[in-house]
Amino acid sequence: MSGLGSHDETHRPKRCLIIGGGISGLSAAIRLCDLAAAVPSSGPRFEIELIDSSERLGGTIETVRIGEYLVERGPDMFITDKPAALQLCLQLGLEDRLVALDPEYRGALVVRNGSPVPVPESFQLLGSARIGPVLFSPIFSWPAKLRMALEPLVRRRRESTDESVASFVRRRMGAEVLERLVQPLVGGIYTGDPETLSLQATLPRFPAMERRYGSLWKGLRAGATAESESVRGARYGLFVSLIGGLTELLEAAAENLRGRCAIRQGRAVTALRVVDDPERSDRYHVELSGGESLEADAVILALPAHVAATLVRDIDGVLSEQLAAIEYASSVVVVSGHRLDEIEHPLDAFGLVVPHCEHRRVIAVSFASRKLADRAPAGRVLLRTFVGGALQPELCELGDADLQSLVSEELQALLGVAGTPDFVEVARHTSAMPQFVVGHADRVSAIFDRVADLPGLAVAGNAYHGVGVPDCVASGTDAAEAVWGGWAV
Ligand SMILES: Cc1cc2nc3c(=O)[nH]c(=O)nc-3n(C[C@H](O)[C@H](O)[C@H](O)COP(=O)(O)OP(=O)(O)OC[C@H]3O[C@@H](n4cnc5c(N)ncnc54)[C@H](O)[C@@H]3O)c2cc1C
Repeated sequence: MSGLGSHDETHRPKRCLIIGGGISGLSAAIRLCDLAAAVPSSGPRFEIELIDSSERLGGTIETVRIGEYLVERGPDMFITDKPAALQLCLQLGLEDRLVALDPEYRGALVVRNGSPVPVPESFQLLGSARIGPVLFSPIFSWPAKLRMALEPLVRRRRESTDESVASFVRRRMGAEVLERLVQPLVGGIYTGDPETLSLQATLPRFPAMERRYGSLWKGLRAGATAESESVRGARYGLFVSLIGGLTELLEAAAENLRGRCAIRQGRAVTALRVVDDPERSDRYHVELSGGESLEADAVILALPAHVAATLVRDIDGVLSEQLAAIEYASSVVVVSGHRLDEIEHPLDAFGLVVPHCEHRRVIAVSFASRKLADRAPAGRVLLRTFVGGALQPELCELGDADLQSLVSEELQALLGVAGTPDFVEVARHTSAMPQFVVGHADRVSAIFDRVADLPGLAVAGNAYHGVGVPDCVASGTDAAEAVWGGWAV
């Protein structure tokens, strides 16, 4: 057994194991190392170690070069109005590597009766600040437009309990807006079903808008005015990436941790137990694949909730059940490179979303090199086609060859993509996207209450307070601070 060898409690360094080397775990490690580095050399000592089951750090984040294409297999950008990821990039010296999305192609397309049409300008996920673009949009029927125009007359909801995204939109804007636009936009982000997704956990600013302004039109208009008067975020734009892809963030994180945090890759944690010995303060016994085991004062589980659930089963059965109750959806990203002159439809947007009611087999297509021009060589375009999600889970079961031909058929039908692509690559994300269903916020606060009763244990990851990269960075940072707070250094 490795570990500390001696249990002389006075001189023993405090040890924290961070399990999971995705962006959540890496962020936890960086924050914990920073806190430890600030302790004077005469003070207590610390050992911080990160363990990941994969040979590659980064979890869902992975950038690969295929010929002259720069391909993201997972996320390809992050939002800056939640500042944690941007701040981490700045801390890691990546300021000059940040790149904003190309404003020329800002906007999205949505499929209507088999053809792509533009999403009305100023439409923001559930509503719009301006009526004009909605009234002239071919997406909605005239009765639906009238129903939307009457939204300010819809009474505020009295109850403060959570509701689904679908229920909120149907209530305020009408069923057609939900079916034709909100479902594909929101479903595309969460690979989820708006009928079950929690409004409070996914888009809390919209119920807040209803409470404050009594109307989404009014709330979004007020927000648009405030935004245009504010200079915040103007320097970077709302979404950014890194010139060499998000892998640059992983590389910079690993470099930052060099010499401060041991990193063990290719080892899965298989079991976690509390050491039942009142003489010892290193409470946790951690078993790894390959038969090795470690002991630690603190453990941060920066893992999908379903993996964390299995690891805490022997420590707290109720916590394990609460974690296991967070459902996950799978998706597949089929990435392909094409000649632009072999695509009939002008790709004058960042991407295309596909309503479920159109009965297609793709959720969305991101025009990756329209967002970031350098991702494809001149005269070519990089497409990322999303398949599966909560509404079509069976498609994730298909083999690579079937997925490639399915996507090829759909791209041909929806965008007129012809010819043989330069390459096609299949990236699978199995049980990777947590589903924030109605009641999620209550479930998460019950989980955090329970974790707080287990000294030295913390959880981080995309399952709790948000799925985006900035949410994950913030969750890792918070978990490190929770462990540090418990050590009361
Ligand atoms: C296809 C896709 C596209 C996305 N696009 C965006 C986007 O554009 N912008 C954005 O902000 N967000 C996006 N997201 C969301 C975001 O990428 C993820 O939520 C985030 O990367 C998750 O990070 P994480 O560290 O919490 O988890 P993960 O990345 O899942 O990392 C968990 C780690 O734990 C390790 N692990 C698992 N089990 C064990 C074990 N037993 N022992 C040890 N290690 C273990 C895994 O190997 C993995 O490295 C996207 C997600 C997907 C799936």
